[in-house]
Amino acid sequence: AVKKKDSYFVTTLPGDGIGPEIMSATVKVCQAVAAKQGFKIEFKEALIGGAALDACNDPFPDETLKQMKSSDSVLLAAIGGPKWDANPRDKRPETGLLKMRKSLGLFANLRPATVLPQLADASTLKPEVVSGVDIMVVRELTGDVYFGEPKGITTKDGERFGYNNMCYKESEVKRIAKVAFDIARKRGKRVCSVDKANVLDVSQLWRDVVIETHKDYPDVELSHMYVDNAAMQLIRNPKQFDVMVTGNIFGDILSDEASMLVGSLGMLPSASVGDPSGPGVFEPIHGSAPDIAGTDKANPLATILSAAMMFRYDLDRPEAAQAIEDAVNKVLDDGVRTGDLGGKVGCKQMGEEVCKRI
Ligand code: ATP
Ligand code: MG
Repeated sequence: AVKKKDSYFVTTLPGDGIGPEIMSATVKVCQAVAAKQGFKIEFKEALIGGAALDACNDPFPDETLKQMKSSDSVLLAAIGGPKWDANPRDKRPETGLLKMRKSLGLFANLRPATVLPQLADASTLKPEVVSGVDIMVVRELTGDVYFGEPKGITTKDGERFGYNNMCYKESEVKRIAKVAFDIARKRGKRVCSVDKANVLDVSQLWRDVVIETHKDYPDVELSHMYVDNAAMQLIRNPKQFDVMVTGNIFGDILSDEASMLVGSLGMLPSASVGDPSGPGVFEPIHGSAPDIAGTDKANPLATILSAAMMFRYDLDRPEAAQAIEDAVNKVLDDGVRTGDLGGKVGCKQMGEEVCKRI
């Protein structure tokens, strides 16, 4: 993240499938906001995923990492596709994504679930339950049972035995709690920390450290919830939540659950952030949609909303983020819809419609 300035340098990673189409629409929207609000952004493309494999046989080239490190922020569209599905693991597009997250130390995944009133009927729940929902799920991304040692499959008492280890260091909990409290300050000023402290020791440590970290944020309200209850409350009364912060595995499950409150894949942005002095990576949660690639049918709004998150959380330009979100709202108010939302407007035109309303 950087402090507000007059001129920014942003790396774009268009990637594969619909990636180039949705990225091109998004860059135009960013330029429109910058022109309107009197600042500059220089965009420079770099290779990742299948596109990088085709060009240099490496899903995450050193060149790309170098350029990202010198950027104020990074926009990523989508990677992968059937062309590379049979490749060995180190030559797969997804491997590039994992290397990217690791090399940049991106330990926090931010996934908003915002239900726009115009699309409340796209949700799997009743419109009156979801309309007005505005949740940010903050998921820890580099620890927990996914990375804990020891792990494996062995034999015990004459039968097969599998095990993983849920573990967190104090410093890992502290830094993710800080991310959540900082975000809450820019939103509704409430954080709900989700754990299983009634059963798991690692969760008791999680809860203790979150409470200690909260001492520096007296203006933010903190509550705690067990993960089973949180899963239920997300469906029963999702409007009660502002920011939810949780570990890697609980966050994996809860963030997918929260995304179904919104319903349409083409509308969901995300961010991965780490070291506060380095760039974050902002991307839609959907994939490269190879079935509609190159046909101008993709919905670019998830990527455009990811750019709004970039302005708010990485570039210190909340008013630019707001302008983009307002323009997306107006587009939907005016009934402009891509195919996935039941309309006929193409990707390029959707981008132009957003630009017009900036
Ligand atoms: P990944 O495994 O890369 O996360 P996936 O294979 O699970 O992704 P997607 O690539 O997201 O799935 O596509 C799932 C379905 O949703 C496809 O039919 C695709 O066309 C559609 N889809 C995904 N994103 C969009 C979009 N932005 N606009 C329109 N349709 C989309
Ligand atoms: Mg896929």
